Amino acid sequence: MKKPRHKTRSIWIDIIFSSTIILLTVAAILLTLSPNKNQTASTPIEKEHPVVDSIETEVIDSNYPGIKIVTKTSNDKKAPFAIQYPQSTIDSFNERVLNYVTNVQEEYMETMKNKSLLDENTKGELNISYETLTHSSGNYSFVLVNNSNFSDSTKGTTEIRTFHLNPETGDSYSIADLLEGDIDRLRQLSAWVLAEIQTDEALTKHLHLEQLEQYTEPNWGNFQYYAVTDDSLIFYFDENTIADDSVGPIIISLSMNKSANLLLDTFKPKSVESSKDDSSLEKEEDSTTENTESEDAIEVEDSEESTETITDGKKVALTFDDGPDPKVTRQIVEILEKHNAKATFFMLGSRVEYYPEIAKEVFDAGHEVANHTWNHADLTKLTPERMAKEINETTAIIEQVTGAEVTAYRPPYGAVNEKVRKHLSLPTVLWDVDTRDWEHRNSQKMIQNIKQNTKDGSIILMHDIHQSTADGLDAALTYLESEGYQFVTVSELLSNP
Ligand code: ZN
Repeated sequence: MKKPRHKTRSIWIDIIFSSTIILLTVAAILLTLSPNKNQTASTPIEKEHPVVDSIETEVIDSNYPGIKIVTKTSNDKKAPFAIQYPQSTIDSFNERVLNYVTNVQEEYMETMKNKSLLDENTKGELNISYETLTHSSGNYSFVLVNNSNFSDSTKGTTEIRTFHLNPETGDSYSIADLLEGDIDRLRQLSAWVLAEIQTDEALTKHLHLEQLEQYTEPNWGNFQYYAVTDDSLIFYFDENTIADDSVGPIIISLSMNKSANLLLDTFKPKSVESSKDDSSLEKEEDSTTENTESEDAIEVEDSEESTETITDGKKVALTFDDGPDPKVTRQIVEILEKHNAKATFFMLGSRVEYYPEIAKEVFDAGHEVANHTWNHADLTKLTPERMAKEINETTAIIEQVTGAEVTAYRPPYGAVNEKVRKHLSLPTVLWDVDTRDWEHRNSQKMIQNIKQNTKDGSIILMHDIHQSTADGLDAALTYLESEGYQFVTVSELLSNP
């Protein structure tokens, strides 16, 4: 199977190579003959890169009262972007957020301009998205993730910035406000964060030991990017500061049990055993009865879950793409086994050919092995013949290795169109929960994403080629179980929705 493929490929390379030479020669002759050289040279560039790029701005309500989501997109061919940020009724907050976003955008355009001078074919991509983390005091933490990529560099950059607002009061707490400016509490916090970093196994190999102390020493600037929820106090450190850039920005989470004592009263959890009456009094003073009701509802739900077996039949399909991987896939299979969970693995034919025994192990453990093309091709860009080849050869090798029929495929990048659908008989499986694990490579972000977006019938997209995905999976499954979810394969989910 391997040999003919290589042979075909080298013939193609020969053909492409010789036709390129012919084309270049013809072009050179034409160019010398042309009376107006400049015009001839500039026309193709203009065609490819229209002068006017269309920037669209959309403002919609978010799920959080008082907060709108602004989305600004440009589909410029060379320098596209998609920027999303929160907007409130508080001017000072809006100004801070807009300042940041505008700076990032301008910097990106400037970088693109400079890069185009060196190579006009350079392409870029900028994405800013955000998450809203809430605290029962009414304070929101907005976590903006800014990710940019350029075609001339192999690695993109990711930056996390946080903004804080209580949309009702207009308050915005800094980390110094949270700790009431107390340097002793800051020292304690710094020690805990440092310990947390040093004991994180996923980080050990990547730490910049010389710089670790500098970036965690007790000064307010080191801890300025934070988020606070009822469960945890979270800190964000820039990539390439305390660890090398292969791990991206570092997210360190301290549980509220630990850190509550350091915080301003507003952020202390209402202690259940000791002062229930006091806290409910406090609540009634400054908030509506609506809040108290919703808290009661949550308590009821909690006790139901702990006493009864779950019978509501909520289902979720876990999917893992781009494997098999010699390091990560087996870990994932093990964690799934621990939770008695069945999942679907969308594998690449080329990797199945390389690691047939891993593909077989996945199948033997009861999981569904499905088709993700041979080489991670964008099917919409292929001729019908190449498309069929990408799919059919992958199906063939999976069936050969597992001995079972392939029943689903997932197009790389989720790229499908009518042409693709018409040519393929297998059902196309996309997803509704995108953990973006490939982008942030951060277990906690993955878990948070799953917590925020999973609903009954969801299909969750993950990748069994990143260590961070394996690292976060156990906690993610524990959470989903506690929410009453059952784990099924995609085909099961689609046949009994
Ligand atoms: Zn993929």
